[in-house]
Amino acid sequence: MFENSQESKTNLSELGEFGLIDHLTKNFSPKLESTIKAIGDDAAVLNFENKQTIVSTDLLVEGVHFDLAYMPLKHLGYKAVMVNLSDIYAMNGTATQITVSIAVSNRFPVQALEELYAGIQLASKIYNVDVIGGDTTSSTSGLMISVTALGIAEKEDIVYRDGAKANDLLVLTGDLGAAYMGLQVLEREKEVFKANPNSQPDLDQYTYLIERQLKPEARKDIGPLLKDLEVKPTSMIDISDGLSSEIIHLCKKSKLGANIFEEKIPLDPAVISVCEEFEIDSTMIALSGGEDYELLFTISQDDYDKIKGNPHLTVIGHMTEENEGMHLVTRANQKLPLIARGWNSMENRED
Ligand code: ADP
Ligand code: MG
Repeated sequence: MFENSQESKTNLSELGEFGLIDHLTKNFSPKLESTIKAIGDDAAVLNFENKQTIVSTDLLVEGVHFDLAYMPLKHLGYKAVMVNLSDIYAMNGTATQITVSIAVSNRFPVQALEELYAGIQLASKIYNVDVIGGDTTSSTSGLMISVTALGIAEKEDIVYRDGAKANDLLVLTGDLGAAYMGLQVLEREKEVFKANPNSQPDLDQYTYLIERQLKPEARKDIGPLLKDLEVKPTSMIDISDGLSSEIIHLCKKSKLGANIFEEKIPLDPAVISVCEEFEIDSTMIALSGGEDYELLFTISQDDYDKIKGNPHLTVIGHMTEENEGMHLVTRANQKLPLIARGWNSMENRED
């Protein structure tokens, strides 16, 4: 299960760079009105009329951000797009176009790159973005993939990290920790597989976790949902590095403190049970796990009634004045300072 099954293998050199670009991008035809010219010229041409343009880019490097031992290339392509779209949604924008640049070594046959591009194509279809260009080059070592996403928003709709006010509520979409625990399960299976290549892992009970790791979904739905509810967040960020470090970003940019409550942090039951199995604290995982691609935002207390009871949204705490610091309030009612990687448990935690 850890090998990408490739029956036929075509060497990259058979196509050459331009042949490869044509081959990989032949199915990418632009759908959006704002895409005037996509792939095929020296540059793409876009027309956003009076909207503001949002741009975000990420670079994924083999061995650093992904491991092809358990990451199928199709999923990698999909995930590389999600990581970027998530940043556009975190600005409260609509994602519209992406560019995709790759550096590949000869060890990848053309069929492997077809898989990668199948994932990119699927993501662009589901999320309604046009692939408008990129760059292709060779690499002497691993695979690298860089995606740049563009998006649009009305000036007054854009949400920055620095707009939170003291007493605003901290709201989270979805649940946390699953992507990180999915990675732990995959890493464990990789070790088992190395020791015994014939082992057939039974991963059924981990489906949700593995999906969250290998095929994350960016929260395209939250911007429109908040618009429907007539709520404009005062600040927003996506959860790529773990709740703790994202809260710290919002606090630092907005010059505030925050209290979050351990009992409010939304966890899927699968995360709770796998954390018991691995003997790890599930709160720790939610705070520092990362790669959940949920959104964290602040709203005025006046808007609480509008979001109350929404199944996608959980209030996990509130902002405070800066001098009050950033804390996790535990189930045992202890106040522990938040640090970038989880919390500062200088005082012993008892629960
Ligand atoms: P240039 O020589 O100007 O860099 P290229 O030959 O690299 O042009 O690219 C030709 C066209 O193909 C351009 O529109 C470019 O954006 C697009 N392109 C190149 N590589 C990729 C890729 N990996 N994925 C998508 N589009 C690509
Ligand atoms: Mg080029």
